[in-house]
Amino acid sequence: MTVPTKRLRVVILGAGFGGLEAARALARAPVDVTLVDRHNHHLFQPLLYQVATAALSPGDIAWPVRAVFRRQRNVTVVMAEVTEVDPAARLVHTGEGLAIAYDLLVLATGATHSYFGHDEWAPVAPGLKTIEDATDIRRRLLLAFERAEVTVDEAERQRLLTFAVVGAGPTGVELAGAMVELARHAMTRDFRRIDPRMARIVLIEAGPRVLPSFPEKLSAFALRSLEQMGVQVLTDTRVTRCTSAGVECGEERIAASTIVWAAGVVASPAGAWIGAERDRAGRIRLGPDLSVPGHPEVFAVGDLAAVTDAHGRPVPGTAPAAKQMGRYVGRVIAARASGRAAPALFTYRHYGDLATIGRRSAVVALDGIRLTGLIGWWFWGIAHIWYLIGFRSRVVVSFEWLWSYLTSQRGARLITGHEPTGGSALRAPGQD
Ligand SMILES: Cc1cc2nc3c(=O)[nH]c(=O)nc-3n(C[C@H](O)[C@H](O)[C@H](O)COP(=O)(O)OP(=O)(O)OC[C@H]3O[C@@H](n4cnc5c(N)ncnc54)[C@H](O)[C@@H]3O)c2cc1C
Repeated sequence: MTVPTKRLRVVILGAGFGGLEAARALARAPVDVTLVDRHNHHLFQPLLYQVATAALSPGDIAWPVRAVFRRQRNVTVVMAEVTEVDPAARLVHTGEGLAIAYDLLVLATGATHSYFGHDEWAPVAPGLKTIEDATDIRRRLLLAFERAEVTVDEAERQRLLTFAVVGAGPTGVELAGAMVELARHAMTRDFRRIDPRMARIVLIEAGPRVLPSFPEKLSAFALRSLEQMGVQVLTDTRVTRCTSAGVECGEERIAASTIVWAAGVVASPAGAWIGAERDRAGRIRLGPDLSVPGHPEVFAVGDLAAVTDAHGRPVPGTAPAAKQMGRYVGRVIAARASGRAAPALFTYRHYGDLATIGRRSAVVALDGIRLTGLIGWWFWGIAHIWYLIGFRSRVVVSFEWLWSYLTSQRGARLITGHEPTGGSALRAPGQD
């Protein structure tokens, strides 16, 4: 293996879990890294639902990418939206008109929600992927209570106080649990006309059980917990339409003011940029060293990558998987840049699955260990605090959780952003 004569230019697209870890793994490598992201922050997506339900503030779970790499001198951060890659010329093009040259390219642009061919549902049923999504959902949620307080139309009040979550994977379950707690515990004495405890939270799942990727016993536990908390769970129920009036599931209509989409994901278009072979979810089929077949200078990591583990099972779209892939690709590139032999082929290590169901309960499936309820919740909480970036976030999030645990209060009940004012059937409280 020969050492390259000049420092290699490594361009990493996406500063999510995979991209960040790849850049970090290159800290000591003789390469110049350009890290490109359309946002100026790295986001801890597993806690986004807590921003959407007013438990945490955006700044608690997002960090400026520049600050993360302040001390890593070989990383240059560029905030730009990638629109195209020219693999023949080895150039990345951005919407801002930049053309960034690379010797080695790491695609780490993740995934987004999929409406299974019904993108027209997006405006009424937003998904949860970015800070903007979370604050938009928070606004819809809190505004529904405000509107319900002033409407004099009983049917409309019921519609306003009905919230539907589509998809009962971990995100849907966590959202539904947090919504019911917001309504039943955090706001009970804050309104004069309505009782927020009357809010109806409906969790709709097309498959036969909630948390389908978890062992069946844990799914059953999660279902029982959700129902005890007051969530109405509909399994084997396929959503056929979402409108501003609510959700339709075949003949059944659920009048709902707020719908959140947590049902499916599709990979970012990075595979199309380089003309790579993709699976049905748009993920790039990769070689065993995570390079793109036919393009040994291009790698893909994280939610964008279609990879199987040692048993032939697909590697899940999770943060630990993205981090493992990012770290591995960083090591492959560092070896190439230093003229060392490449590391052994990528192997994925699955540590377990975790999901919380409200403020005091979670399900945890680790190698041979199953935890449920409060013990599971403590494990879940400590694991998440551990993976947050920086001392400040760990302290702030721990404090917010402890406060909410003791008082049921939510620290971030802010309505921000615009919403058109009004219908006619409104009256201020005290003027009945
Ligand atoms: C609501 C939610 C909850 C989740 N909960 C969990 C959980 O509890 N546990 C768990 O393990 N996993 C969880 N996940 C999944 C986990 O977050 C993902 O698997 C992980 O983020 C994938 O990492 P990634 O680097 O592939 O992509 P991401 O972390 O999504 O990063 C992609 C980056 O690329 C950037 N980008 C995208 N397109 C462009 C473009 N065109 N130009 C420039 N930049 C671009 C984005 O801004 C983003 O920063 C959750 C995901 C969501 C959405």
